[in-house]
Formats: sequence, C-alpha cells, structure tokens
Amino acid sequence: MIRIRLLESNSDLDLACSDRLSSGLAALDRQPPAVVLLDLNLPDSCGAATFRSVLSRAPSVPVVVLSTLEDEALALQAVHHGVQDYLVKGTFDGTQLTRTLRYAIERHAAVALKTARDKAVAKGQYYIKQILKGDTKFTCSFCDYSVVTSRFNTSNGNRRTQAVAAMNRHVARLHRDLWKRRCSLVHLEKDASVSVEEGNIKEQA
Ligand SMILES: [Zn+2]
Repeated sequence: MIRIRLLESNSDLDLACSDRLSSGLAALDRQPPAVVLLDLNLPDSCGAATFRSVLSRAPSVPVVVLSTLEDEALALQAVHHGVQDYLVKGTFDGTQLTRTLRYAIERHAAVALKTARDKAVAKGQYYIKQILKGDTKFTCSFCDYSVVTSRFNTSNGNRRTQAVAAMNRHVARLHRDLWKRRCSLVHLEKDASVSVEEGNIKEQA
C-alpha cells in the first residue's frame, strides 16, 4: 500500500520493507535508512514498545509512525517520545506521505545540526567538522555557511588548511561579536578571539 502511494506521487524515495520488528531492527543495524515509517502493530511487537525499541536502537534515524484511528492517542505519545510525526492509515495520499517523510528527514537533520552546533559552541569551536567520503565539510557554528575541502586546489597547499582559513575569514567577517562574547563568557585565551586579520583564529581540535 505504501509502495503504491509513493509511486503515485512519483517519489524518489526507495523503500525497503520488514514485516516484523526483529527483522526491521536488524535492517536498521545493517544500513540505517533516511527515515523509518513504523507500523505500531507488528506480529512480534505492538503499541508503545514498538516505537521505544526503534528509537533506542537507532536514535539518529527519523521515525514516522503509521497508526490507526483508534491508536491516535498512542501516536501522539510517540511524538512526545521523539518520533517526528505520525500518519493515520487510510487518511493520506502519496503526496502527503512523501511530504511527511521529507519533512521528518529535514526536521530531524536540522535538530541534529543544532545539537552539534550547540556542542561546538560550548566547546569553544566556531565550526563543526563532518567527514564525507574522503572529503571534510566545515559548517559555521553560527549560520549555515560551510566549506568542503574538495573545493580547494592542492597546488595552493593543503586543502584542509585552506578550508579552515576560509572559515576563519567567514567568522571574522560575520560573527566577530558573537565569537568575542562567547570567548568572554568562557574566559577563553585572548588568542582564541576573532580578529579581522586573516588566520588569527586558532584551529580547534
Ligand atoms: Zn557563519
């Protein structure tokens, strides 16, 4: 049924199905998907135990619950426990399904990014680092600006050094005040403060 709905809406989401919680959890371990659409009533699990198992096994994967009309209160409870959203069986079409799944993915990613940024700022880092297939992505802790090492040319030196220098320039230009305030709050060393001079920010480990 879900597959048909997704086909109807020309969704580019790939679908893998498990008919039991146990096989679904095993699939989550093997290859975490972009999103989980979770029926609360499965042959080997029902109700709150179903979403609790999935949330605890794969906290980094967004979950959308598929509920029945009778189960709507339970679906709401699931949302309080960290599920992104829920859909009531028989009340949505392919477009709504695709939109709900996309929105769950985006919202989950936004929350993860915010958490990473809060941690970075708490540690006195003005950027967060992500490793992507042999590339490193640096994202500003204060806005959405990011640089990837592959953008830089090795003939100008180390790509990573150039990427960090680009982040330095960005923070110095746009977030100097935020960064200074941050430094004074946590009593960071003077040389941790941002100056408009290039390369004056010490790279944080
Ligand atoms: Zn920024």
